Amino acid sequence: MNFLPEGKARDALVKPLKLELKKGCADTATAGSMAGYLRQWLANYPGSGPVVAKVGALASAYPSLGTAARKEAITGILALFEGTAPAAKAPVLAASVAPAVKRQVTPMAIGPDTPVARLAGIGARRANAFKQLGVANIEDLLYHFPRVWQDRSNLIDIIAAKPGMHVTLKGKVRGAATFRAGGRMMITEIGVQDGTGVIFAMYFNQPFRRRQFVVGSTVIVSGKVEARGSHLQIMNPEAEVLPEGDEQLIHSGRVVPIYPLTREISQKVLRQAVWDALDCAARVPDAIPERWANEMGLAPLAESLRQIHFPDSEEQRLRARNRLVFDEFFVVGLGMAMRKAGRKAELGAMIPRGGALPKRLLKGLPFELTRAQLRVWSEIEDDLAKGEPMQRLVQGDVGSGKTLVAALALVSAVEQGYQAAMMAPTEILAEQHLINMRAWFEPLGIEVLPLKQGQKAAGRREVLAHLASGRPLVAVGTQALIQEGVEFGNLGLAVVDEQHRFGVLQRLGLAKKAKMRPHVLVMTATPIPRTLAMTAYGDLDVSIVDELPPGRTPVATRWLLPQAREEAYDAVRIQVQEGRQAYVIYGLVEESEKAERRAATQMAVHLSQDIFPEFKVELLHGRMKPEEKDAAMERFKSGKAQILCSTTVIEVGVDVPNATLMMIEDADRFGLAQLHQLRGRVGRGAARSLCYLIGRPNTEEGIKRLEAMVRTTDGFEIAEEDLRLRGPGEILGIRQSGIPDFKLASLVTDQAILAEAKARAEAVIKDDPRLESRDNAPLRDLVARRIEKKLQLAEVG
Ligand code: ADP
Ligand code: MG
Repeated sequence: MNFLPEGKARDALVKPLKLELKKGCADTATAGSMAGYLRQWLANYPGSGPVVAKVGALASAYPSLGTAARKEAITGILALFEGTAPAAKAPVLAASVAPAVKRQVTPMAIGPDTPVARLAGIGARRANAFKQLGVANIEDLLYHFPRVWQDRSNLIDIIAAKPGMHVTLKGKVRGAATFRAGGRMMITEIGVQDGTGVIFAMYFNQPFRRRQFVVGSTVIVSGKVEARGSHLQIMNPEAEVLPEGDEQLIHSGRVVPIYPLTREISQKVLRQAVWDALDCAARVPDAIPERWANEMGLAPLAESLRQIHFPDSEEQRLRARNRLVFDEFFVVGLGMAMRKAGRKAELGAMIPRGGALPKRLLKGLPFELTRAQLRVWSEIEDDLAKGEPMQRLVQGDVGSGKTLVAALALVSAVEQGYQAAMMAPTEILAEQHLINMRAWFEPLGIEVLPLKQGQKAAGRREVLAHLASGRPLVAVGTQALIQEGVEFGNLGLAVVDEQHRFGVLQRLGLAKKAKMRPHVLVMTATPIPRTLAMTAYGDLDVSIVDELPPGRTPVATRWLLPQAREEAYDAVRIQVQEGRQAYVIYGLVEESEKAERRAATQMAVHLSQDIFPEFKVELLHGRMKPEEKDAAMERFKSGKAQILCSTTVIEVGVDVPNATLMMIEDADRFGLAQLHQLRGRVGRGAARSLCYLIGRPNTEEGIKRLEAMVRTTDGFEIAEEDLRLRGPGEILGIRQSGIPDFKLASLVTDQAILAEAKARAEAVIKDDPRLESRDNAPLRDLVARRIEKKLQLAEVG
């Protein structure tokens, strides 16, 4: 170096010195000490001349100098640079960077089906690691989408990094150390320097990072900058060692994909592999006809695959994403529509419209059906008369009167000489259905038989014999109905109440019990968010009971902190004095020593002795014997007890119209769907009902849940909120739901695309149910490759 350091050398000296001046010469400008920094500078930019001489002197003296002396020395050095310009910044626009060097791909033609091992740089061992990512061939690789994208087109200098900023910067590894920080905590610290400053990347308990960051290698680091004393650091940064050579366009200088990885595959390897694989993006068949693509403004597939991995802009990335999301929904839509079409080709029980028994049942009721009930019943009648097996989901908010609609279907089946079954998720609900069905059906001369857990052997044998005989009857029960050894001789219709408790595979069991494929009616009050219903249950026809019987007022809901519980107790007292009844709900059956949750068992005693000595309090929980449960429920139903202290066993379906108040303890610990179901136990008569949620949520989500409950009683709104808060897998339980896992698509934010994709898929299948036409060959191929296996797993019947 000659007289005056220039370019980077100049900046690397001038910037920290100026900063030191600005900060009062307290040796706080650099990550280490100024002396160390200056020595490093001298090593990086060896040379001679006045600047170098002064820097050398200052480096030795700095620690021992006072602030005034430091100031003078620094000013002296900076004076030498007066009138010189800082280094011109090289533009890092992608266009100005030399095109990436394409690695040598095996010269033999590669296509979507080519195993990844054939890509350059991927041997058998790496190919195995790719398998763990679900990537076997080139097409899989192209569909292994990035987790996030990192904008590396705007790298910043370390000196410009300030605490609180999210930055991406590039530098050389200057050193790495691992040390213990008390207990089992291991900290690995990587010093990264870029000529303007040093920053430390910190990792907890990841000692392998030391080997990853070889001193002297170039790294990209990104994350949130923090101050640690006079140093800057980034905790757990997204970091990557760049390869030697000039492959800039892949790993740096642009928006770069960051992938989900396994231990054995690095970002670099994966990124390079995808980059190479993109050569055959154009050979992945694009199943969407061009005409549609134009109508819907969808980007071509090959272009979308490129842009989803290596986007040229955020706009392009979103356009690519839309296209790929459409594909994900569309392929599931096709599969569901095909399955539905296949089912409709089978034979179902013939049950003509307008039977006499449903009419007689309706005549005996003290009320008229609501318009919504009439409409849904009419949709069901249509299905039953078609001679193809019905598979219909009836959604309707709690209390909308689904049971009655199901009852109409049950009697219709029996009238035609078939057997019919009604399955409920809990003993209590099955018992309630049994009571209702007997009251409704026995006057019509229809036999109603229970099948329960813990039934006496002799009684059970007799029921089983009746079921097997095939004589027309209605069976009511729990899962017991689909257990081994239960055979229906002539099942024409199965109603599954509160389906979300069962899951698709269990429904399968029920349908399989029959020789002929029975009609299946699935009822749920847990409003499944529309998007979930369209995917997870996309092959079901859906009816919605979107109206409550007249005279109901929405339940007024209040959220109280535990210390305000008395207010709820007062409200209970007022209701009971007016002749009404109340539920008090607790989360657990028995107090575990750790949980401070109050147990229903203890609380029932507390409530009846200390709080409501003047009333009769009944206890109900899941571990009671079936007879005890029935007896307790009966005492509450008949009004002998005014307060039912219960666990969530009453969650679903229980119907006591005179109960007008519900108090839920520890409400913050329940999920939204559960709270909504619980609250649905009140507001079932004409009287105004109240719900008190007692809880002190300790999470943001908990607060949001309670707020949603206070805000609305609309089940659909609650379901959408639930989906937002928890995601689809949690709501249905992935195992049972049979929801295909979408890689990109979101059931929350992509609803519009879903609707479009589903409509298109149904239109295609309507014209060509098995996708046999030549035009549809690409679609047939798409379904076969993407989902056939998954759907088989979730197949119903
Ligand atoms: P859910 O849809 O939650 O299963 P239920 O079938 O248990 O609701 O009905 C709730 C209550 O409303 C029951 O007491 C039922 O008898 C009553 N009910 C049903 N339909 C009507 C109607 N059309 N008019 C008045 N009450 C009705
Ligand atoms: Mg119900």
